[in-house]
Amino acid sequence: MTTLPWQHSHWTHLHSYIQQQRIPQALLITGGKGVGKMELAKQFAGALLCEQPNADSHACGHCHSCLLLKAQTHPDFMLLQPDEGKTSIAIDQIRSLITKLNLKPQFERYRVVILNPADKLNNASANAFLKCLEEPNERTVIVLISERQSKLPATIRSRCQKLAIAMPDKNYSVELVKNSIRKRRHCRVIRIGTRCAVIGIKLC
Ligand SMILES: [Zn+2]
Repeated sequence: MTTLPWQHSHWTHLHSYIQQQRIPQALLITGGKGVGKMELAKQFAGALLCEQPNADSHACGHCHSCLLLKAQTHPDFMLLQPDEGKTSIAIDQIRSLITKLNLKPQFERYRVVILNPADKLNNASANAFLKCLEEPNERTVIVLISERQSKLPATIRSRCQKLAIAMPDKNYSVELVKNSIRKRRHCRVIRIGTRCAVIGIKLC
C-alpha cells in the first residue's frame, strides 16, 4: 500500500511511533471527507500486524499476516462500523469488542481495532467503549476515525493521540491531477462546497 501523496508527513509521524516503540493505545485520525483517513488507518494497521515490515515501517504485503489482512480474515484485526442500515455503532457491538479484547492477541504482533466513524458511537456505546480506553488491553491499538471529532465525547478525545489530515490546497490538487493524467493513474474527485476539487489519487 502506498502512502497518499499529501500524507507523507503523517506517515513519518506514525513511522516514528513504531521506530521508537511509543505506539499510542488510541489514535484519533481526523480530516474532511475523502482525505484518506481510512487509507492511513489501514496502512498503520498493516504496519503493526506485519511480520516483516519495511525500513519505513510499511507492511511487506506478502507475509502470512499481510495475506490474512488482505483476505479480511486476520484474527487480530477488527473493523467496527455501524451495522448495515443502522446509523450508529450499537452497544452490543462494543460489548462484543470488549469480550474479544479480553482475550490475548492470537499472533505475536499487535492487535488493531479501527472504529469508523467513531462519532457514530451513541451515548450508551460511547460509555461502554470508554472502558477500552481506560483499561488498555495487551498489545492493542485502537484507531478512531472521524470527520466530526467535536461529536465525540471529550472523555474519549482526551484519551487519544490525535492526527489531523488537512485537505490539500487547490494548486497542489491541480498538480496531482496533471501528474496522475500524465502517469495514467485514476483520480478521485470530490465536491467541496460549490466547487469541484480533486483531492485524491487512487494509485493503481
Ligand atoms: Zn507483511
